[in-house]
Amino acid sequence: MHPHPPSNSPESPPPCGRAFSFGSIDDRLPMIYPLTPENIKKAAALLASGETLAFPTETVYGLGANAFNAEAVAKIFEIKGRPSFNPLIVHLYCETQLQEVIDLNASVAALELLDKIKIFWPGPLSLVLPKNPRIPAVVTAGLDTVAVRFPSHPGARALLEACKFPVAAPSANLSNRVSPTTAQHVLDELGDRVDFILDGGACQVGLESTVLSLVESPPRLLRPGAITLEDLTSHLGKIESGPAPHQQHTPQGLPSPGMLKRHYAPRTKIVLRGQIEPKDYPPKVGLISFGGTSADSNGFTIVTTISHHQDLDEVASKLFGAIHAMDNQNLDLIVVDTCAEKGLGLAIMDRLKRAAA
Ligand code: AMP
Ligand code: MG
Repeated sequence: MHPHPPSNSPESPPPCGRAFSFGSIDDRLPMIYPLTPENIKKAAALLASGETLAFPTETVYGLGANAFNAEAVAKIFEIKGRPSFNPLIVHLYCETQLQEVIDLNASVAALELLDKIKIFWPGPLSLVLPKNPRIPAVVTAGLDTVAVRFPSHPGARALLEACKFPVAAPSANLSNRVSPTTAQHVLDELGDRVDFILDGGACQVGLESTVLSLVESPPRLLRPGAITLEDLTSHLGKIESGPAPHQQHTPQGLPSPGMLKRHYAPRTKIVLRGQIEPKDYPPKVGLISFGGTSADSNGFTIVTTISHHQDLDEVASKLFGAIHAMDNQNLDLIVVDTCAEKGLGLAIMDRLKRAAA
């Protein structure tokens, strides 16, 4: 897909060019830093010293740590309240770094698949491959595989290039909540837990990366995203979808990584349009509309139209921002439009169904 730059996003990011300090009594107060060469250098130095920080990518904002530093990575789990069974994605700058992260000798079949599919790098595609022993177990939740990706966001790439080491990062939100697509979202949710947020503007894609496992044959789509099932199939042939039967539960009886039924949820109850009859709506209901012909918006307290013509690139890039904004309106219910589950629509509906579960 070809994401367009988001325009008039429901929540515009704070303007670049100045840092927000919210008072100066305590220099540990959370700060949003504009994307300048000095701030990228500062961020890389922080990561090198074992700190965590939030940074922009084209998908969502990430909460990063040096992937080789187990203690630093453990801080990510603590900050997010993330269960230790949920592995992180390792972010790289260039292909030569790949050999430090994956095990090049473990699976010839996986590497052959990698060769066919890496044309989507840099971009919103995470590939699960055999793990290099240099990557600490905390990064992969003890799995012998690791998810890797090369982001295309210029700010993320500049940071990763300055770091030289790989950066492990999940989305920069509290566990199970909606992912942040602006620096302000990160500040709103993690402001008392992170000191440094690099501001790269609103995320262009707006949904978490596609996750594809190459250690299975046929490859398995673990999470749909902007690199669509159709994109993957056209390069790799048959692809399975969803958790493998043996993966549905971890040994502790917990759901397998990234496949939690309820995820991506705001505080306010959220339902898909049609799930509740309008006559049963509570007093204050917000609608997130995708436009199109069924865009009847009567009877809602607030309506946010994130696309006028069901343009799915636009829906994806603005969806989480609209959910964040509605969540701050003290509504009793959020109703969201739906779309066909094909192309990018599969990823949009995946997130919405989990948010509404
Ligand atoms: P987040 O960036 O917050 O969406 O979290 C990263 C997600 O990547 C996890 O929730 C998993 O869905 C996926 N992931 C990371 N590593 C692996 C792995 N080794 N095997 C399967 N899925 C993974
Ligand atoms: Mg996440």
